[in-house]
Amino acid sequence: MNEIIIGIDLGTTNSEVAIVEQGKVTVIDDKGNKLLASFVGVDESGQIIVGETARNQYLVYPERTVKSIKRLMGQNTQIKLADQVFTPQEISAIILKQLKTIAENYLHQPVSKAVITVPAYFSDAQRQATREAGEIAGLDVVRMINEPTAAALVYDSAQAESKRVLIYDLGGGTFDVSVVNIESGVVEVLSSHGDNQLGGDDFDQQIINFLLNQLQENEQIDARNNSKAMARLTRAAENAKWVLSDQPFVQIDEEYLLEHKGEAIHLSLELSRIEYEEMIVDYIDTTMNAVHSALKDAKLTSSDIEEIILVGGSTRTPCIRERLFNEFGVEPHGEIDADLCVAMGAAIQAAMINGQQVDTVLVDVTSYTYGTSAIGTLAGKDYPFVFAPIIHKNSVLPSRKTESFSTNYHGQEFVDVSIYQGEDHDALNNVKIGEFRVEGLQDVKAGNVIILTLELDLNGILQVSAIEKMTGLEKSITIQNAFSYTESGKLDTAKQRITSLFGKLDSSLYEQNENEQEGQVVAPEVEKAYQLIAKAENLFDNVSTEDKEDMRDLIGQITKCIDSDKTDDLENTVAQLKDIIYYLES
Ligand code: AMP
Repeated sequence: MNEIIIGIDLGTTNSEVAIVEQGKVTVIDDKGNKLLASFVGVDESGQIIVGETARNQYLVYPERTVKSIKRLMGQNTQIKLADQVFTPQEISAIILKQLKTIAENYLHQPVSKAVITVPAYFSDAQRQATREAGEIAGLDVVRMINEPTAAALVYDSAQAESKRVLIYDLGGGTFDVSVVNIESGVVEVLSSHGDNQLGGDDFDQQIINFLLNQLQENEQIDARNNSKAMARLTRAAENAKWVLSDQPFVQIDEEYLLEHKGEAIHLSLELSRIEYEEMIVDYIDTTMNAVHSALKDAKLTSSDIEEIILVGGSTRTPCIRERLFNEFGVEPHGEIDADLCVAMGAAIQAAMINGQQVDTVLVDVTSYTYGTSAIGTLAGKDYPFVFAPIIHKNSVLPSRKTESFSTNYHGQEFVDVSIYQGEDHDALNNVKIGEFRVEGLQDVKAGNVIILTLELDLNGILQVSAIEKMTGLEKSITIQNAFSYTESGKLDTAKQRITSLFGKLDSSLYEQNENEQEGQVVAPEVEKAYQLIAKAENLFDNVSTEDKEDMRDLIGQITKCIDSDKTDDLENTVAQLKDIIYYLES
């Protein structure tokens, strides 16, 4: 066999090395860690240190450590570490040499060839500097490929038909967006934009500022000049950011953070995802502006984009996915580890050059979105059944996600939680797969926080729990076959759901819903109202958007009347819906 060519992602924050073995892509780990922090330093004894050790040293001895060297590639500058001086190429070479060693230890053989990725916007000088870094590290750089090209190869190397793909790459310190055309494993970059001073580090800084302000306000302490406290705050901020990617709140506790006038100062506070998202919204706006510029340069519009690929650790921030989904109507792909995707693509390219066969990279993902419904706005109008996604389509399984909701009125004693599967903004157009009631809530004002957690495993078992944040009161259910609703006949819309509920369809869902109804006595006017809703929804496909919206409005009102037992209002709204149906059918 030919000598293995390694694939390297030489990143601003982290770097990785990957190979293809027996058709499979492997990112090689070093003592369990696949990410090598792109930090280089000189320790107290004058030895070169790389990775996590250097990253730790950076917090205490920044004058002996360097990070983000990628930003200086191609510049005629010098980096001083303790009493030694290096060029940017030499620093990058130290990182590359470490990756080469990691690969050699894994393969038990020498490695001398590599494919290295660079940002699409890199100039000739920056590319040349990267090539030189490879040479200094003892690596023949057989090809340099653009990072978006690498990411696209991981998702699509086997696809034959031509596709327009948007690659949104937000790392620790840089942001890049590219529009590419991919066909039969060949990736053409149509346009790219970005900001090499924007990334997750800026998000961390926002949280750090918030923590510093809290210390100032509550304790009248300025911690900015206390390097140990700052190091702890920096770590705490990044950790909090990670937690907020999966949960709506994070508790930040830093005991004995510092001493002030002989007293120990502790930091303890809660940060919500909503507060955090407000802190970073300007940065996200900047990235979306770049997305639009990239589209414009490629002479395309949002509707031309068939797929979106997320790259870079910061794309785990949920509001980024939401913004892209809202803008493009396409659920972004993030199933292949956003941190490792580029290195994997480099390895695929290396294997292609080497004539090796490469299998498609497969991971278990959900094919549908799972969530609940909440009061919100739909098409500019208040609507009681806005779909609130919790586990998004394409999420890697098993997946556990938490979101918070709040009660709508003062003294609300219970909430009814419905769980839906589907992609429509209107929950009623998705498939309802379970529901339950949380009773005995505290007698408090509207806004009582209920935390909803969805946990979906590889077998399609969906655990749902709702907890009243204030008291810990919990109610949970297990939905055994969360996948099978759609597998058994693509029951995608409420049309089928409602129809089945009233016996027109003989499907498994029908039986399920019948069972759910067992023991419940439904008043005749309510049953009639449901039948009318089913009739209205049957007409949805053949009426104007305006009529559809009017009907949806009324359906929302009717369901509300049923839930709150308002018989007079029910009669009135049912009559209005009847009129519309009569008009449409005549
Ligand atoms: P990269 O340069 O692609 O390695 O991305 C590194 C950035 O991703 C850092 O700013 C990390 O803090 C950030 N990051 C990693 N995991 C998460 C997460 N779960 N949520 C938000 N940001 C993350």
